[in-house]
Amino acid sequence: MFNLILFGPPGSGKGTQSEKLIEKYGLIHLSTGNLLREEIANQTKLGLEAKNFMDHGQLVPDEVVIGMIRSALEHNPKAKGFLFDGFPRTVAQAKALDDLLAEKNAAIRIVLALEVGQEELVQRLLHRGKTSGRSDDTKEEVIRARIIEYENKTAPVAGYYEQFGKVVHVKGVGGIDEIFRSLCQQIEARQTVQ
Ligand code: AMP
Repeated sequence: MFNLILFGPPGSGKGTQSEKLIEKYGLIHLSTGNLLREEIANQTKLGLEAKNFMDHGQLVPDEVVIGMIRSALEHNPKAKGFLFDGFPRTVAQAKALDDLLAEKNAAIRIVLALEVGQEELVQRLLHRGKTSGRSDDTKEEVIRARIIEYENKTAPVAGYYEQFGKVVHVKGVGGIDEIFRSLCQQIEARQTVQ
């Protein structure tokens, strides 16, 4: 299995690049943000609970998202690999993911970390908010709260994977295709090593 994490702050281009990467490498896309928005659209109990956190730019509790990932892994036993997008967002989630993958004799091969400056992120998200239909993209204070959550709780996840030499930093500014090529180069370098 080839499992990768596309890592980076909100607005760094994870969703856009994920779509291109899953198509090229035949991976299954697991975006906890998308899964949560589906729960909200279906008005499930989980969705209603998660919405309150999401509307305030806060992370949803670990056990909720870990449960969603556990069931997604169980539903795809034959996958040749997964692309995790927006997960893990805390070190506790990262450790839980390692354990879930270990049960399948698998592991994270590479963490691709997209680097984008903070003001660029705010501008991108406000711009996306005009068309995305996402309420958390329209209010600047919610966008800033998401970036603060990222700095406090999610940025340490890169440190967690760095101890295993799994993190590669990629410039997330420039053309979509140029960034995609940089990501592909890093994936292909790892695919040939192991
Ligand atoms: P995203 O679509 O990845 O930007 O996620 C949108 C929102 O969903 C985030 O601001 C969080 O409130 C919530 N969320 C998504 N993924 C996670 C996660 N792995 N852990 C906690 N909350 C999450």
